[in-house]
Amino acid sequence: MGSAGIQVYLGVRKTLPTPMKYVNLFSEAKGLDKFVLGGKGFGLVEMTQIGLPVPPGFVISTDACKAYYASGGKMPEGLMDEVVADLKALEQKTGKVLGDPERPLLVSVRSGAPYSMPGMMDTILNLGLNDATADGLAKASGNPRFAYDAYRRFLQLFGKVAMQVPGAHFEKILQERKDRLGLKRDVDLSASDLRAIVEEFKAAIRSETGKDFPADPSAQLRMAVEAVFLSWNNPRAIEYRSYYKIRDDVGTAVNVQAMVFGNMGADSGSGVGFTRDPSTGEKRLYGEYLSNAQGEDVVAGIRTPEKIEALDPRLAEEISALAKRLEGHFRDMQDFEFTVERGRLYLLQTRNGKRTAQAAIRIAVEMVKEGLISKEEALARVDPGDLDQVLHRRLDPRAKASAIAKGLNASPGAASGSVVFDTEEAVVLGGKGQAIILVRPETTPDDIKGLVASKGVLTLRGGMTSHAAVVARGMGKPAVAGCSEIELFAQQGYFRTAKGDVVRKGETITIDGSTGTVMKGEIPTVDPELSRDFRELMGWAEEKKRLGVLANADTPEAAKKAREFGAEGIGLCRTERMFNLGDRLPIVQEMVLGSSEAEFTSALERLFPFQLNDFREIFSVMKGTPVIVRLLDLPLHEFLPSMEQLLDDIETMKAQGAPAREIEEKTKTLARVKQISEHNPMLGYRGCRVGMLHPEIYRMQTRAILKGAMDVLKKEGQTVEVYIMLPLISEANEMRSLRNVVEKEAEAVFAAEGSRIAYMVGTMVETPRAALTAAEISKHADFFSFGTNDLTQTTFAFSRDDVEATFMPKYLEMKVFEESPFEVVDSAGVGRLIRIAVEGARQTNPSFEVGICGEHGGEPRSVKFFHQAGLDYVSCSPYRIPVAKLAAAQAVLETERASSTV
Ligand code: ADP
Ligand code: MG
Ligand code: MG
Repeated sequence: MGSAGIQVYLGVRKTLPTPMKYVNLFSEAKGLDKFVLGGKGFGLVEMTQIGLPVPPGFVISTDACKAYYASGGKMPEGLMDEVVADLKALEQKTGKVLGDPERPLLVSVRSGAPYSMPGMMDTILNLGLNDATADGLAKASGNPRFAYDAYRRFLQLFGKVAMQVPGAHFEKILQERKDRLGLKRDVDLSASDLRAIVEEFKAAIRSETGKDFPADPSAQLRMAVEAVFLSWNNPRAIEYRSYYKIRDDVGTAVNVQAMVFGNMGADSGSGVGFTRDPSTGEKRLYGEYLSNAQGEDVVAGIRTPEKIEALDPRLAEEISALAKRLEGHFRDMQDFEFTVERGRLYLLQTRNGKRTAQAAIRIAVEMVKEGLISKEEALARVDPGDLDQVLHRRLDPRAKASAIAKGLNASPGAASGSVVFDTEEAVVLGGKGQAIILVRPETTPDDIKGLVASKGVLTLRGGMTSHAAVVARGMGKPAVAGCSEIELFAQQGYFRTAKGDVVRKGETITIDGSTGTVMKGEIPTVDPELSRDFRELMGWAEEKKRLGVLANADTPEAAKKAREFGAEGIGLCRTERMFNLGDRLPIVQEMVLGSSEAEFTSALERLFPFQLNDFREIFSVMKGTPVIVRLLDLPLHEFLPSMEQLLDDIETMKAQGAPAREIEEKTKTLARVKQISEHNPMLGYRGCRVGMLHPEIYRMQTRAILKGAMDVLKKEGQTVEVYIMLPLISEANEMRSLRNVVEKEAEAVFAAEGSRIAYMVGTMVETPRAALTAAEISKHADFFSFGTNDLTQTTFAFSRDDVEATFMPKYLEMKVFEESPFEVVDSAGVGRLIRIAVEGARQTNPSFEVGICGEHGGEPRSVKFFHQAGLDYVSCSPYRIPVAKLAAAQAVLETERASSTV
C-alpha cells in the first residue's frame, strides 16, 4: 500500500531535507512553525508554552514524513532513537512507563498536517496496551471495564490503521456480541464482555494478516508512526488535497502524547468547544460534551451530547476561562478539543475555527473593537468570496430540507417557485405575480425575459460562467447550473432526478444557488441582513483600497441596486438591453430590415426618446458619480427573427393561402436576414464596425446621452460625469473617426441647448490588437476599459459558450487550466496584454484612466491582479461590489506586506 502515493511524492521533490532534529517535546519546540509541526502540533506546542493544561508529548516533524517518502518508504535514520529519547522524558514527566504492567504509560499517535485536513488521516489512541498492561491498567485504575474498553478500542484502531484489517470485521464482532447479549449500546458491555471481544479482535487480526498483533509497545509505536506517515497518501487525503489545492509534498507531522481518559466514569468525559458561535459569530462559548466518553465519541454522534452551558458550573467556568486564554493568545476564534479525567480538565487540540461568512464578519469586527486585532487583520481575515453568502436571501438555517439533486452553485441565494420549462410561460405566469423557477436544459440570450420573470433558474448544462450563471449573478438571482443529475422531459411536463424523484410542471421547488442544491417544496428563506458589522468592515475596506469599484448596470433599477451596494459609479452601461426590450424591438427590427435610408432614419429617431429617458433616469440615480455608457455593440442579426422561423412562416402562409403581397414581404425579410447573417458573428460585423458604417446610430445615442445629462443638470441641479465608450475598437483610425462623430454631435447638442458640459470619450479594449496598439489608440481616447470577457475570448480564440459545452470541463479536469480563464483572469496571457495596453496608454498620458469591466471585476484574485497592473478601477455586477471592495483592500495589504518583507 502507499506505493502509488510514494510515486506521487517523488515526482514533486526528491531531495532530502537538511538533517535536523526530527522530534521535539511540546515543552521544547519553541519557534518552530506549522510547516514543521503541523497545525495540531503547533497548537499543542503553543498551548504548552503558555502554561495551559496539555498532556505531555512530542512532535515528529513533517520533515520526517518527507524523508520517509523521499527514501521510498523507509523510516528515516535516527528517527526512532530520537523518539525513544523523548519517550523517556515523557515517562519522567508522567511517572509512567510504556509497557510497564505496574504503571503503564499509554499514548496517542496523532496525525496533523500543516493545513487542516479534518478526518482525512489517521490517529491511534491508547497505544501501549497488551494483555499485561491492560491488567495493570485495570488494577491501577480500579476499573477493569475501563481498561478493557481502552484495550478493545486500541486493537480496533491499530488493527485498522496500522495493520490494514478492514474496520467492518471489528464492527461485526462488536455487533454480534451485543446482539447475543441483547444490548444496544457499547457502554452496556461489561468488563468480561470486553475481554472476550479483545480475544476475538486479536483472532481477527491474526486471520486477516497472518500475523499476531504486536504485544511489544515499542513495536506498536514504530508501526503507528509509520501508519500515520502512510495515511498522508491514503486516497481520501489525496482527493482532499487535490480539491483544496494543497500541495502533495508538505507531509504530515506525528504527535505522540500521553493519554488522558474521558471514559473513567461519571466525573470524566470529553468535548469540543468554539470560543465564539461559529454560525452567528456571537461572543459566547459554544460547545458540546459527552460524559464518560473518549475523544471521537462526541463527533461520531453515538449519544446526544450536552451543551457546555448545561454542565456543572464550576467545570463550565473553567472551560470558559481556558477559552478566553486561547483567544487571547491566538487572537482568533478557536475550535478546541478537551477531555476531563476524574474532574481534571485537559486541552487536546486547538485551531482557528471554521465559520460562516456572517460569523467571520462579526468576529473580525468585534475583535478589532476588543483590541485583539487591527483593522488590517480584520480585513485580511474575511474571505471576499464568502461575502456573496451574506448578500442574498438564504435558506432559513432552522429549516429542514433534503436535496433531490445537486448542481453547481452558480449564483448565490435561495428561492422557491413553481417549475416552468418554457420562457414564454415564465413571462406570462411571472407577469401575474406568480413565483417561478425556470428550468431549462441551458439558457440562451432569448431566455433573459424568462429569467427576469422568474425567482431563480435551474439549468441542466453549463458551468459557473454559462450564460444562465452570468446573467443570474448580474441580476442577483439564485441559479443552480449544470445539474446533470436531472433529466428533463419538457414535452411531457416533468423532470426526473438521478435519485428517482419526479417533479411536474407547476410543482413547487426550492433552489439554493449558494450550495447548488435542489429541494422539493417551499423551504423558508430569510432576508440577508447587511449588518452594522458588515457596513463597518466595508468602511475599513474603502479607507484601505486604491482601486475604484464601479458597477455594471444597464437599467435604472440596476443602477439603484448598484448604489445600494456601494458602487462608486457605473463602469459599464450597455445600451443593447435598451434596444432589446419588448416595445423597442419591433422598431429596431424595422431599422435593420428596412431597405431605404429614410426607413432607417425614421426608425432610429423613434428610438431616441426611449434612450433619452433611460439615460435621464440612470444619471439621476447615480448622483454625480461617473457613468460610462457603451454605445451599441451587438451583431445586428441578433435582433432579427431566425431564418428557420421565417421559412416556416412562409410555408404556413402559402399553405393557408395568404395574400401574395404578404408572402412577398416575408420573402424579402428572409433574403435580408440571409444577407446579414454571418458564419461567425462574434468575429464579424459588430461593435464599432457597425458604428463606422452607420454613424447615425452613434449620433443618436450621443445625443440621447448628452441631452439626458443636461436635462438632469437643469431639472435637478445634479451634475453628471459622462463617459462615452466605443465598443471593440482594434485600430486607431476607428477611434479617431468615431471620436470625431461623437464630438461633432456633441457640438450640435451644445449649440441647440445653449450650454456645454464636460464628457470623455474612450474605448473598451477587447482585442489583442487594441491592447498591442494601445499607445496609438490612446492618442484619440480619454480612457480605456478592458472588456475581459471578450478579451479572453479573442486572446484564446475560443468562444465561451462553445468551449463550455465542449472541451473546457475536460481541460479543467486534466489541469490544462487550473481554473476557467472566464472565472479568474488569465494573468499570464490576457494579463500580459493588459499590462502592455496600460503601459502604452500611460506613455501617451501618465494619468490616462484605465479600468476593467466584465465578470472578472468581481472575482477576488482577478481584482488583486488588476490592482497590481495599475488599473484605476474595476466594474462588476452590483452584487459583487462588496466582494470587489474587500479584495481591493486586501490587494493593498498584500502589496504592503510583500514590500515590508523584502
Ligand atoms: P482528528 O485529527 O481526527 O481530530 P485527533 O488526533 O485529534 O484526530 O484525535 C482523535 C480524538 O482523540 C480527538 O477527539 C482527540 O481529542 C482524542 N485524543 C487524541 N489524543 C488524546 C490523548 N492523548 N488523550 C485523550 N484523548 C486524545
Ligand atoms: Mg482532533
Ligand atoms: Mg464585448
